[in-house]
Amino acid sequence: MQAANLGERMTLQLDYREVFRYANDSMIIHDAVTGEILEANEAACRLYGRSAEELRSLPVGALSVSNDKYCHEVAIRYIHIAARSKGLFTFEWIILRSDGIEVTVEGNLKRIQGGDRPLVLAITRDISERKLAEQRLQERSRYFSELIRNSSDGVALIAGNGMIEYVSASLIGIIGVPARAARGENVFNYLHPQDARIMSTVLAKARRRAVASGTFTYRIRDRAGEWRHHEAVFKNLLHDPAFRAVLVNFRDITTRVRHEEQMREREQQLSHYARLSIAGETAAALAHEVNQPLCAAVNFFAGCRRRLNAGNPDLVEISAALDMAQQELERAGRIIQTVRQFTSKHETSRKVHSLKAVFSGISSFIEIRARQDTVDLGIRMDDDALVECDEILIQQVISNLVVNGIEAMDGQLDRERRLEIVTALRGQHIEVSVQDTGVGFPAESLEQMPATFFTTKPNGVGLGLSLCRSIVESHGGTLSFQHVRPSGTRFSFALPVL
Ligand code: ADP
Repeated sequence: MQAANLGERMTLQLDYREVFRYANDSMIIHDAVTGEILEANEAACRLYGRSAEELRSLPVGALSVSNDKYCHEVAIRYIHIAARSKGLFTFEWIILRSDGIEVTVEGNLKRIQGGDRPLVLAITRDISERKLAEQRLQERSRYFSELIRNSSDGVALIAGNGMIEYVSASLIGIIGVPARAARGENVFNYLHPQDARIMSTVLAKARRRAVASGTFTYRIRDRAGEWRHHEAVFKNLLHDPAFRAVLVNFRDITTRVRHEEQMREREQQLSHYARLSIAGETAAALAHEVNQPLCAAVNFFAGCRRRLNAGNPDLVEISAALDMAQQELERAGRIIQTVRQFTSKHETSRKVHSLKAVFSGISSFIEIRARQDTVDLGIRMDDDALVECDEILIQQVISNLVVNGIEAMDGQLDRERRLEIVTALRGQHIEVSVQDTGVGFPAESLEQMPATFFTTKPNGVGLGLSLCRSIVESHGGTLSFQHVRPSGTRFSFALPVL
């Protein structure tokens, strides 16, 4: 009670002129009828850059920028509105300072009673900085929305049933369809029929909370009706009340996919030529290899005929000889089969293979080639692992390295001619190395070599190593080599293990 009394007394003792004079906000008292300035505080003087006397002598219009919106007439109208209303009249204004600078202010007009005549108190505050900040914010948001519109990435929110709830404006640049046209549509209307299953699996798993996030690729029809390849990262927000959708970040990778397809085609072609060339070089040795079982079979048949002609044949003996003849012919058949497989054109197909199995498909070929050049061959497949690869292409890499190794020992009659093929697990990779005792690789690093057509052989093409490298790298692996002392080179490639 006492405190309230003290407060009351203090209020009574306050000099409102002082409060008015030193207030932080600009305050001007207008005549409610004429709009004439009767009083201005110090903050008002600072804001307008004029003395109180000057302000009192000027019409309100002289303190404004004086365009259609901010002029004397509008100011007077506002004062009249405020004079008629009980509450605060709030408005935005652009004032003109004495130095010619325009300042944006926020004003409040309030009717007050001043003895015998009605007055209007105008309280204004400089908001130019806030305005500037707002303008910058708007510019930034325009900038970002422009950025998003032109981005090569898109964002979409897909409902559990496949409905596109939201898609960013960048869709127009990505598939040529305006975002507003796609919103509300079903995503399956756009997807390639073969890829629709991927999306339905993602959505089904998301509904069951069986997946939190992941990636997938799909084909989508653009405005021109062409299929584009997309890569997407998704996050399951179906059970988040703020989204109730799967958030998908997508990006067009058509150029990359087409480039990879071209590269693969090129690899296939080159690999086919390379295999034909290797087979051609090995023709003599192959003929010899096939000839051996054929001759053996002919001998067995001749033996059988002799026994039959001699009369009273031993059928057990003849049957055994026919078995042997059959085995020899099968051996010849297997050799021919290997050559046919090795030289035939094939479609690329990446499957999971054990590296040992990939190697065994080519080992007889390697053995024949080594025998042909009287090279001592050592194969140590100590480690094995599953890799996802194109079997024929990886066989191509191995045979290129083997042939290079053997050729590096050409004409080396006084020194050991040994080729060693070894596999070894190295962390997440399996490495295959081919080591020879030849003349040594004529460079310090593979980077030093021209990408293609480098050869030191009279009949060389200089494509083998670049082909090996491109095949290995397209499998996510690496190709490298080391010089071996006293002579020779060890080429190795490593493939990621599944
Ligand atoms: P090509 O065998 O047609 O010459 P490659 O690209 O396979 O094409 O090899 C390019 C060159 O690299 C060869 O000419 C040879 O000089 C060198 N080279 C490759 N492998 C070896 C190796 N194991 N030892 C020494 N030199 C090698």
